[in-house]
Amino acid sequence: MAFALSIVKLEEAMKKPGCMICRTEQETAIHTLKSMLWESTNDFHHRELIKDAYGFCPEHTRMVVALELSTSGPVLGVNLIYESVVKKTLRELQGVKPGRKTGGGFYEWLRNLGLPLPKWVKPGVLTPKVACPACTTSTQTGMNTLSTMFEQIEIRDENFISIYQQSDGVCFSHLRLGLTQLMDEHPQAAAFLIEDTKKRLSAHQAGMLEYIRKHNWAYKHEQMSEEEKLAWIKTLTFYTGHPESRFSHKVDEF
Ligand SMILES: [Zn+2]
Ligand SMILES: [Zn+2]
Repeated sequence: MAFALSIVKLEEAMKKPGCMICRTEQETAIHTLKSMLWESTNDFHHRELIKDAYGFCPEHTRMVVALELSTSGPVLGVNLIYESVVKKTLRELQGVKPGRKTGGGFYEWLRNLGLPLPKWVKPGVLTPKVACPACTTSTQTGMNTLSTMFEQIEIRDENFISIYQQSDGVCFSHLRLGLTQLMDEHPQAAAFLIEDTKKRLSAHQAGMLEYIRKHNWAYKHEQMSEEEKLAWIKTLTFYTGHPESRFSHKVDEF
C-alpha cells in the first residue's frame, strides 16, 4: 500500500510537464546533492560514499556546482568534497605500477605459461566501489515512485488515473522499467499503461505524418493544427522524459 504522501507528491509531479518519474528522480538528486553539499563537511558516511565513487557522475557534478554557485557564498562544499576525492585518487595512483600487472596468483601463472587470460579478467585499476551517490538515491526513489504509480492504477484510483491521462505520461525508459519489474504484480496497471501509451503514440505518429505531408509543396495550402505542430516534441518527451521546453535551438557547448 502506497503512502498518502507519496501519492500526493506523485500527483503534483504529474501536473507538471515531462515524465513524472524523471521529475521525481531529478528532485531527489537535487535533495541528495544539497544535503551532501551542506552536510558533507561533517558527515563521514556521505564523504566516504562520494570518495568511493570518485565524485559524482558528470551530470550530477554539473548539478552540484550549479547548486552551490546559485548561493551567494563561496564554493566551499565543492572544494571540500573534491579535495578529499583528489586525495584518494592520488593515493591510489601511487599504488598503480605500470608493467606490473595486477591479478596475481593463478592469472600470473597462466601468463607465465604464455596462456591467454580469460576474457573476463580485467585487472581493476581505479575502480569505483559504488555508483554516483545522487544516481543511486534518485534511481531508488524513481523505482519507488513507479511502484506507487502502478499500485494506484491497479486499484483503479479514478482521480489518480484522470490526472495521469492529462499528464505527459511516463517516458519510454520508465515504462520499460515498470513493465519489466512490476507487470506480474500489477497486470491491470500494466495493461492500462500499454493501452494509454499506444493511444498517445498513435496520435503523435498521425500528427508527424500530417506535419510531413503538409510540408510537401502540393499540400502547402493546408492549415497545420497545433497538435500536428507539436507531435514531434511530444514524441521526444516520451523517448527522453524531458519537458517540451528542453527542446530548443540552443546547442550546449562542451
Ligand atoms: Zn522517465
Ligand atoms: Zn549521478
